[in-house]
Amino acid sequence: MKNEKRFCLECGSVLSGRSDKRFCNDVCRAASHQRRNEQLSVDMRLQNAVLRKNRKVLEEFLFRSVPVNHQELITRGFREGYITQYIGPGHFRVYDIDMKQLSEDSWIILKKPSAR
Ligand SMILES: [Zn+2]
Repeated sequence: MKNEKRFCLECGSVLSGRSDKRFCNDVCRAASHQRRNEQLSVDMRLQNAVLRKNRKVLEEFLFRSVPVNHQELITRGFREGYITQYIGPGHFRVYDIDMKQLSEDSWIILKKPSAR
C-alpha cells in the first residue's frame, strides 16, 4: 500500500523515501547493529563461561585412575551439551580435555592427545 506509514526500527520515527528503508539515518542504523552485536557478545560470554566451567570440572578428574560417575560430574557443576568438539559416539572434548564414556554412567577423563 502506497500510503502506509513505515517507522524507523531504531527510534520509531516515520520513514520517508525508498520503500525498503528500515532506518531514518546512519546513526539509527549503527545504533541498531551495535545493540545486536552486544546481545551476541552477551550470549557468547555466557557460553564461554559454561565451557570454561565444564573444563574446570573435568580437570579435577584428569589424573584419577578410576572412572568418574556421571552424577559426580553434574554435582560438580558440569553442564551436559556444552563441549567444544564431538570426536565420536561417547567421546567428547572440552578444549584440551577428552571425556570418554565407559558405560552408561561412567566416564574416563583424559588429556587430549597432543597433535603431532
Ligand atoms: Zn531512527
